[in-house]
Amino acid sequence: MNQQKIASLVRDLLVEIGEDPEREGLVKTPQRVAAAYSFLTSGYRMDLDKLINGAIFTQQTNSMVIVKNIEVYSLCEHHILPFFGRCHIGYIPRGKVFGVSKLARLVDMYARRLQLQERLTEQISQEIMDSIGALGAGVMIEARHLCMMMRGVEKQNSMMVTSSVLGTFRESQATREEFLALIGSRHE
Ligand SMILES: [Zn+2]
Repeated sequence: MNQQKIASLVRDLLVEIGEDPEREGLVKTPQRVAAAYSFLTSGYRMDLDKLINGAIFTQQTNSMVIVKNIEVYSLCEHHILPFFGRCHIGYIPRGKVFGVSKLARLVDMYARRLQLQERLTEQISQEIMDSIGALGAGVMIEARHLCMMMRGVEKQNSMMVTSSVLGTFRESQATREEFLALIGSRHE
């Protein structure tokens, strides 16, 4: 990523919105924005194998694993504005489980890109299936979108909920219900 190029584009943006990029508070803004975008889009440049390397463990269990309330911060691809909320993950292992912090890293890897909440939800569930060969996976994300809250319809309290269920979570209603009960969701 060429941070100098991005800083120069941000400087042009400041001029076009009617600002003075030379005034004290804005002099370093292009560099700061470039650094922020480098971090906020770092998911494009992460290597999943390195990220979860060494943190997949053998465990003979067929019980559902739940990790609730993983914080999610992403950028909507339509407006490049933040959406943020919580992600709940459940999966049924087939001999392999994730180290607990790795699921959060997996969420970050897909969230630190330009995203649609629906696609983010599906990418996480698919990755859980692929990485450990899980029998099933369920992911739910509840998020608020600044593009809705600050502009457009200006609905400050609306929460978007997306879910993706694969494998046994898709095939079995009982498994889905167990997942929803364990994450404490009111949504059916
Ligand atoms: Zn948007």
